Amino acid sequence: MASLDISSVLQGGYQHPVSRSWQGRRQLTKSMFMYPLFITDDPDASVLIPSLPGQRRWGVNKLVAFLEPLVKKGLSSVILFGVPLSCTKDGRGGPADDVDGPVIQAIKIIIARFPNLYIACDVCLCEYTDHGHCGILNQDGTINTEPSVERIAEVAVNYAKAGAHCIAPSDMMDGRIKAIKRGLIDAGYGNKVTLMSYSAKFASSLYGPFRDAAGSAPSFGDRKCYQLPPTAKGLARRAILRDVAEGADIIMVKPALPYLDIIADAAELASDHPLACYQVSGEFAMIHAGAAAGVYELRNMAFESVESMVRAGATLILTYFTPEFLDWLS
Ligand SMILES: [Zn+2]
Repeated sequence: MASLDISSVLQGGYQHPVSRSWQGRRQLTKSMFMYPLFITDDPDASVLIPSLPGQRRWGVNKLVAFLEPLVKKGLSSVILFGVPLSCTKDGRGGPADDVDGPVIQAIKIIIARFPNLYIACDVCLCEYTDHGHCGILNQDGTINTEPSVERIAEVAVNYAKAGAHCIAPSDMMDGRIKAIKRGLIDAGYGNKVTLMSYSAKFASSLYGPFRDAAGSAPSFGDRKCYQLPPTAKGLARRAILRDVAEGADIIMVKPALPYLDIIADAAELASDHPLACYQVSGEFAMIHAGAAAGVYELRNMAFESVESMVRAGATLILTYFTPEFLDWLS
């Protein structure tokens, strides 16, 4: 080995578990994990979602008992998704901000019991419209952007009024970040509520289990007109820059693992913003399926997946593995 250059000898730097841990620019911490929760309108629901291993649809009456041990283990943030199963849907997503609806009820219950738990709310109309699209439609079935954005901003402000700490619009409508930010400012929440934009949300095959969970497949067509094509690196970069300019406080990339290059781009383009990525339902289900098939150990693969996201530049990870990581990082 005398012929090796001194600078070629790398293994001395990572031979011990402690020095291995120093090789990351940043370490995983519990506060990097945000847990997605599906809240349904049956207040006593606790229903397993078959395609999303171990995850449930929760009724508001079951939330406190479920969250209590997680908060004790260090859960610091959740993101709420409304799953209306029995409400009357309409063309404008009326039930989205019903004060008696599951999301607003859940916000109030969580705040009252866990005042330090950070609550983000997904804002989208597709679970609440009778056609299943994320906005208000023209006669010909295409999205009518302007009234859609106005309605989305209205829902966002109503979640803020209920006590949400963070508004996370997932619809990808043009102009909605500016409209929501304006709406929050005008309603007195400009300096109280974080705006987290699903800036680069790709049309992915990995949303299947989520649609099972949320019952949100559109009644006709698909959402490809507003979600990005998987090849669209340039559009993603433009959307990230636009959302920064329109006032987003956090930028998000979704899904995560097939889009690590976009996460790295976002880290460069929005280097002064926290950067979130969503390890979506299909990624979670895929990791579980591989582990069940004996391809790898679940825990090892879960770590490897989120470590790749942090390495790419993410500072916040939305994942169904959050409860496990609270244990694994203890
Ligand atoms: Zn939607």
